[in-house]
Amino acid sequence: MAEVTPFPFATLDELKQRWPDFPAGADDHATVLLEDASQFILDTVPNAAMAAEATRRRIVCAVVRRAMPVPGAEAGYSSIQQAAGPFSQTMTPVNPSGDFYLTKAERKALGDGTQKAFGAQVGSLYTVQHLPWCSINFGATYCSCGADIAGAPIYEGA
Ligand SMILES: [Zn+2]
Repeated sequence: MAEVTPFPFATLDELKQRWPDFPAGADDHATVLLEDASQFILDTVPNAAMAAEATRRRIVCAVVRRAMPVPGAEAGYSSIQQAAGPFSQTMTPVNPSGDFYLTKAERKALGDGTQKAFGAQVGSLYTVQHLPWCSINFGATYCSCGADIAGAPIYEGA
């Protein structure tokens, strides 16, 4: 595998810059997660090695952030039940095992599935040319020249 620099994709400071409420005392944990998540991204989307440095940095920070539940933060917990007394707080982490995962948009930004996306785009770029007097050109919701079913006009004197 090609050497990717920098590795990890982001430093602890860069993570904190993107995370104003970074949990106090989590520095060591976050440092390890940045390394793990960087490797996770390379393992999951090998094309990430070719992605822009800034893209890798942004995404590794997002992955680490999701893997680190923050006590009291709504984003990290699905429910917070506070009973009487300071020590009876119950929290349910949304991502309890701290799993790393990438969203679809992140995978795309990292270059995953580039070939497939291109193939799909070719199909959708295909445009059908209707006859000038096709009903569709007169505000109708249907085509009278047959171009919508045949890909080219076949009725109406085509
Ligand atoms: Zn038509």
